Amino acid sequence: MTTDELLAYDRQHIWHPYSSISSPLSMYAVESASGVRIRLCDGRELIDGMASWWSVIHGYNHPVLTAALKEQAEKLSHVMFGGFTHQPAVNLARTLVEITPDPLDLVFFADSGSVAVEVAMKMAMQYFHGAGKAEKKRFLTIRSGYHGDVFHCMSVCDPVTGMHQIFNGVLPEYHFADRPECCFHDEWDKNDICSFEKLIDEHHASLCAVILEPIVQGAGGMRFYHPQYLKNVRKLCDHYDVLLIADEIATGFGRSGKLFACEHAGIAPDLLCVGKALTGGYLSLAAVLVTREIGEIISKAEPGVFMHGPTFMANPLACAVANASVTLLIESNWQERISQLEQGLRVGLAPCKVLKGVADVRVLAGIGVVEMTAPVNMKHIQPAFVDKGVWVRPFGHLVYVMPPYCMGMDDLAVLTGAICEVLEEAQPL
Ligand SMILES: *Cc1c(COP(=O)(O)O)cnc(C)c1O
Repeated sequence: MTTDELLAYDRQHIWHPYSSISSPLSMYAVESASGVRIRLCDGRELIDGMASWWSVIHGYNHPVLTAALKEQAEKLSHVMFGGFTHQPAVNLARTLVEITPDPLDLVFFADSGSVAVEVAMKMAMQYFHGAGKAEKKRFLTIRSGYHGDVFHCMSVCDPVTGMHQIFNGVLPEYHFADRPECCFHDEWDKNDICSFEKLIDEHHASLCAVILEPIVQGAGGMRFYHPQYLKNVRKLCDHYDVLLIADEIATGFGRSGKLFACEHAGIAPDLLCVGKALTGGYLSLAAVLVTREIGEIISKAEPGVFMHGPTFMANPLACAVANASVTLLIESNWQERISQLEQGLRVGLAPCKVLKGVADVRVLAGIGVVEMTAPVNMKHIQPAFVDKGVWVRPFGHLVYVMPPYCMGMDDLAVLTGAICEVLEEAQPL
């Protein structure tokens, strides 16, 4: 197939994420990728600013990860997890239990982030059912959050950006506190927690859990909030006997400057969801870590088991590459890499602050965000980035990057320089 034929077939028959069939955006065929470079079928190379949505932290086609995958494929690509276990699952579970906060002792493997969130929510409900408080089965979250695209995840995504009105009547209706306004680097304002405090005080009798993204709100707005907010959430959850689910699917594995973003607040959640960077971007895999107490309460009560078991649970290929990726990360100087990225993003994106149409520029660790005053024109801006040799995929008002950790300073300067140039040239919608 020629590239044109490939693109034509794709346009006719294939859905892409958040895409329109009748008015599709520009589409690029990828031939291969290596390190921080994505090679298109037409021979062009793009410096990758997105890490394929937070996942490719070590860069593409990393020799260690590719070798782990090949080696595992020659032994065992898949076997059902009901009644069987295997070394890759045990290795990965051990690594995850070791690197996550102490009370988290049990691992449930899921096949995508959304499923992990779904599992965590279900566990929280089953826990209170088992604890004889079956009336505690509702959730409290904060606005501007994102937790995935399946129904129960959607119910705790921001109601506006999550388009709740389309699904109204079917989507469960949960409680939303105002989003935190006090930013990561601001001085703490104790009023920031008031809305959350009021809701948990009012509704705790029916709440099983609070679910939120610690410190970094990702797809719901790319916002960085104050660690004290999270500390207070933890305290209030304890006070009102409500579990805390930390969705670290985007933030996990160093992206926020700590291995897990909860560490910024020095707290441990009762349930922790990880995904995205877990396999270094090789395969879809996620996990829920949970305390032994929750596991035991669930298991002692009717029906005596946790009611979930995906077909591809703990897929050996995914577990093997995940264990290789996490090990590679913790044995690397990732803190140093992330602080260099932070520095480069700060310096490189600073010129955007004075551009017309720019509302805010913010950087935290490996994440750089330029928030516009109006939604960007994707039809114009996407090809403009590609013409400059970089891959940046904005959404709504947000032009943002979270590069692979291995990006060199020269490439980072090209990436941020391209963002400044494109935004300077761009016409607001
Ligand atoms: C991406 C994401 C999810 C969903 O993960 P998928 O693998 O896309 O299902 C859930 N929560 C957060 C915070 C995410 O960033």
